Amino acid sequence: MIVVAKIGTSSVTDAEGLVDHDAVGKFCRDVVQLRGAGHRVVVVTSGAVTAGVAALRPAGGRPQDPLTLQALSAIGQHRLMRVYDDHFAAAGLLSAQVLLAPLDFGERRQYLHARETLARLLELGVVPVVNENDAVADDEIRFGDNDRLAALVANLLGADLLVLLTDTAGLLSADPRLDAHASLVEQVQAADAELEAVAGGPGSPGGSGGMASKLAAARMAAWSGVRAVIAAARRPDVLVDAVAGRAGVGTVVVPAPRRLGARRCWIAFALAPAGRVVVDAGARRALVQGEASLLPAGVVAASGDFGPDDAVEIADQAGEVFAKGICRLPGARRHEWMGRRTADLPPDLSAEVVHRDDLVVLVPS
Ligand code: GLU
Repeated sequence: MIVVAKIGTSSVTDAEGLVDHDAVGKFCRDVVQLRGAGHRVVVVTSGAVTAGVAALRPAGGRPQDPLTLQALSAIGQHRLMRVYDDHFAAAGLLSAQVLLAPLDFGERRQYLHARETLARLLELGVVPVVNENDAVADDEIRFGDNDRLAALVANLLGADLLVLLTDTAGLLSADPRLDAHASLVEQVQAADAELEAVAGGPGSPGGSGGMASKLAAARMAAWSGVRAVIAAARRPDVLVDAVAGRAGVGTVVVPAPRRLGARRCWIAFALAPAGRVVVDAGARRALVQGEASLLPAGVVAASGDFGPDDAVEIADQAGEVFAKGICRLPGARRHEWMGRRTADLPPDLSAEVVHRDDLVVLVPS
């Protein structure tokens, strides 16, 4: 099995924000256990920013501006890696640092290259330890939290399991600070919409994830058929239990039976949209039910500065984004194609706005 195991900032740093050697050691032993059982494991770790802040101890506490935080991540990242490296080395394993930024996922060739590199590291018996490239990633488009990054890595590798380790037992039925009877939700279906209500807001102060972001990540993984488990990093044997599907390990997010292919997952989740097209009811029906291409005649509005080969969101007239795809037409010339029948299009323009091979419908048919 290929397992992507993500651990959050609050689980790898101590109260002062320093890298918590014991906690990382426990996590590494869990990974080693999985390796011993023949599984391949990719670690996704957070904690670089918080460890960097703790190392510098800036007067006035944790800086707020993104640029300083990005700079401090560069201090924290290699401190973090040192601890991982020591613990894996003690078990006779090599670990490797892989830093990824959103642009690495957006450019298809780069995406495939990242996949090759991670796959090769796994073949070589190495444990890849992934984090966002916080120091240099463009702040405007950073992932920010590693839950999404971990889900993209799981999609990228076609993993079997994504484990999101955190400081709670999993998804709880209510906020435990407000309700003493809050209990662990052991299993949810990826498609469950009511989940947002119990998932609550952002998580711990150092991390940026929270339960809502974990569920969003679990859903993203579910589209490529990856089962996800949200569980407590402190729980003994948490990774082997998650792989075994042991009851009570945490919250298991069961993927929907429909599974998107690797390229469609890339279009749906890795590509940042450059614009949006709004379509009429007939076009929506044709796309959702008929697996058709989107033709210019069905488009009633378009926004954003998109060109051919950019990703666009496809929304209905009520504003719901129900699909995403790679556009074949330039947004700047929208008045020459929007709402037009194929026979009335300028000859140099494509007859499809989005070809069905480049289209992902994100709602059930
Ligand atoms: N890349 C961030 C870090 O290492 C992740 C922050 C988070 O997920 O909370 O600090």
